[in-house]
Amino acid sequence: QTALKSSGKDPYPDWKQGDPVPYAALCTTFSLIEMTTKRLIISSHCSLFLRQVLRLTPQDLLPTVLLMINKLAADYAGVELGIGESLIMKAIGETTGRSLQIIKADQAEIGDLGLVAAKSRSSQPTMFKPKALTVKGVLDGLMGIATVSGDGSQGRKVAGIKKLLSSADVALAGKGGKGVDITKDKGGASETKFIIRFLEGKLRLGLAEKTVLVALAHAMVIHETERKGNRLPNSEQLAKGEAILKTVYSELPSYEVIVPAMLEHGIFLLRENCNLQPGVPLKPMLAKPTKSITEVLDRFEGKNFTCEFKYDGERAQIHYVAEDSPQQYTSTSSSAKGRKGLSAIFSRNSEDLSKKYPDILAKVYTWIKSETKSFVLDCETVAWDTVDKKVMPFQQLMTRKRKDVKVEDVKVKVCVFAFDMLFYNGEAVVEKPLRERRELLHQAFAPVEGEFTFAQYGDTSDLEEIQTLLDESVKASCEGLMVKMLDTDESGYEPSKRSRNWLKVKKDYLTGIGDSLDLVVLGAYYGKGKRTSVYGAFLLACYNATKQTYESVCNIGTGFSEAILEELHSTLSEITIEKPKPFFLHSTVPKDQPDVWFEPRVVWEVKTADLTVSPRYKAGAEALGDASGKGISLRFPRFLKVREDKKPEQATESRMVVELYRKQENVGKDKGPSIDDDF
Ligand code: ATP
Repeated sequence: QTALKSSGKDPYPDWKQGDPVPYAALCTTFSLIEMTTKRLIISSHCSLFLRQVLRLTPQDLLPTVLLMINKLAADYAGVELGIGESLIMKAIGETTGRSLQIIKADQAEIGDLGLVAAKSRSSQPTMFKPKALTVKGVLDGLMGIATVSGDGSQGRKVAGIKKLLSSADVALAGKGGKGVDITKDKGGASETKFIIRFLEGKLRLGLAEKTVLVALAHAMVIHETERKGNRLPNSEQLAKGEAILKTVYSELPSYEVIVPAMLEHGIFLLRENCNLQPGVPLKPMLAKPTKSITEVLDRFEGKNFTCEFKYDGERAQIHYVAEDSPQQYTSTSSSAKGRKGLSAIFSRNSEDLSKKYPDILAKVYTWIKSETKSFVLDCETVAWDTVDKKVMPFQQLMTRKRKDVKVEDVKVKVCVFAFDMLFYNGEAVVEKPLRERRELLHQAFAPVEGEFTFAQYGDTSDLEEIQTLLDESVKASCEGLMVKMLDTDESGYEPSKRSRNWLKVKKDYLTGIGDSLDLVVLGAYYGKGKRTSVYGAFLLACYNATKQTYESVCNIGTGFSEAILEELHSTLSEITIEKPKPFFLHSTVPKDQPDVWFEPRVVWEVKTADLTVSPRYKAGAEALGDASGKGISLRFPRFLKVREDKKPEQATESRMVVELYRKQENVGKDKGPSIDDDF
């Protein structure tokens, strides 16, 4: 409702038709968002602002959206700011003339560099009023900082930050005057504060990317309706616009492509003009865990399904367009830019893996049949033993270099196991049933031993046959089975969704909780005895995506070899912080505190015997609704591997931990809502 109402008074009187969007106006919206925790209100502030952009400066819609979601470009473009806390502190010091020591002390007290910067600037006399920042100018400035490379790049990055900061105003909620407690500055529309928070990668507004997407859809629908001279749209039209944008974004997660297309064709014709295309990776479909074959049979009863081997390698999406393809596509991916034809390979996180797998890209065209001109393929790259001609364990794959691999230097060969086709010869095929997509896949390629083949499968619903397939998969060094709906519209490919139409059955977890967990390392305890020079145990957390917090879930000290402990010590000691971040939810009892805290950056895969409720941990405490604030914890956790392909925001979510806990036998009848992490 609020989104539909115009406020009457113009909140940005200085912003005229055609003017670049003032950055101060965006910061005002950020400050309004910061003052509330209510999702609907957050969404309506966002949407009101985007409407204003559409009305006055539509050409700035893209930079506005990017600044709102704290990104400079789509993930696959690989644009990284590449700056840490210390560089930001240096820039704040040099801009404001305050010593690094004072800035560090402030940071230890306040825990938010954005506020530290605003505080530092507020105590600085202003000699002259700098030229006002614009949204486009800020984005360009940040992009400049990200793309600096080569000798002296750190110094030039600092200079870039200083340039932005010296034009930014302070505007704290309490006007930054004397007597204002800066540590409690919520709602200050300070440009300084938001620039620094952007650089840190956390706007701390509780503004999820999903919310911005919905707000953008609503703003577009309202804007288009108003432009046609109609009254405000009804909720059906809003929902239709939202559904269109969500679907398009899930297939083509790139605002750089979508926003211009939406401005050109309008939101209701977006799907016809903009969908899945080679060169732009989509987020893969994910599976739900199960802990028995009977659970699979219960879920898929009466439906046709297929059981594929679950290979233990790295998820990959291969995009290919032949030079003589009638349709050509442009990609901003570094490996594919500016030439006819295209071949690229992306990770589960949409990172460009082309420099890691040049051997795959060099061969792709030899695996296709002559009629195949373009495709997007979902597959697993698996380490391959060329002597015994069989799959090798995941650990072998991890020994491959990640960057700048030369084909001639590749020691660990990989074989591609293809299991899905998302785009074929100029057409997105995600909506077709899996049976048809699989037929296309088999038509399009000709397997080459040790290089490319199809995932092995059996289409059966017989319990014993499934058991046999499971045993065979394990004998073939696989992790178990992926069971997938085969026909009907339930078997379409659902990008970025953890779907009930794909189930994973992992051999190792049949008696446990059904799956391993991917957890973020928050802190560590110094080792004892033989382990005094390294960390001996760690505090791990799951992720609460709604609140954007990390919730402690266990301490872990088993599963590590001495060599791994040493390696972990050297990587983790690089990212220590002085005190826990405000968005860590953990025990406050002194004896439970780790000796050191880390930036939430590293994700580990961990196995557990089962889940239990514990007063010491906070995972899912709110969903559990225990008045004493108890959370869920892992019993007998065991380290399996570092998940380099997962970002901390992709760690197991608290709601998933709650769901796994509830699924454990004999725990309550109420299973609660099923989780869904689609967009
Ligand atoms: P998730 O992807 O579910 O978050 P995860 O990354 O830890 O979890 P797993 O739980 O091991 O992965 O299971 C899903 C992964 O299995 C896929 O992302 C893919 O990399 C891999 N995989 C192997 N074989 C197949 C297959 N036949 N179909 C789909 N995925 C497969």
